[in-house]
Amino acid sequence: MATERTLSIIKPDATRRNLTGKINAKFEEQGLRIVAQKRIKLTKEQAEGFYAVHKERPFFNDLVAFMITGPVVVQVLEGEGAVAKNREIMGATNPANAAPGTIRKEFAESIEANSVHGSDSAENAATEIAFFFKPEEIVG
Ligand code: UDP
Repeated sequence: MATERTLSIIKPDATRRNLTGKINAKFEEQGLRIVAQKRIKLTKEQAEGFYAVHKERPFFNDLVAFMITGPVVVQVLEGEGAVAKNREIMGATNPANAAPGTIRKEFAESIEANSVHGSDSAENAATEIAFFFKPEEIVG
């Protein structure tokens, strides 16, 4: 499998509980390298733009409101099959369905406040990485 990059976001519920280090340890222990990272406060416009694919979904407005309740940590993870690997490490969207040992099983508060975002395809990863990072900010 090829080396890939994926976009990860540590969401406001997790930064509020000071879980950045514990979440990053899961990525690193399971073979993903954090090759770019910054802590930012999303604007409403940024959150709406990032989640534009979900604009018609019933949870869109609440999701955008949640994503601006506090700081997030946006990061680029690199490794063999990083997109799928990160989805495995994250666990299912709804923490009630997430496998033991996954970030969402251990840390998520709800289906909305589920601690992390991860790109769901290599194509979306490229778009999402470019949304937050300039090429020179990513150091592999
Ligand atoms: N979400 C929500 N309610 C739902 C489904 C999703 O609030 O019923 C939120 C949740 O924070 C999720 C995000 O919307 O992580 C994006 O949803 P998606 O289906 O893309 O899940 P993900 O790829 O994050 O697992």
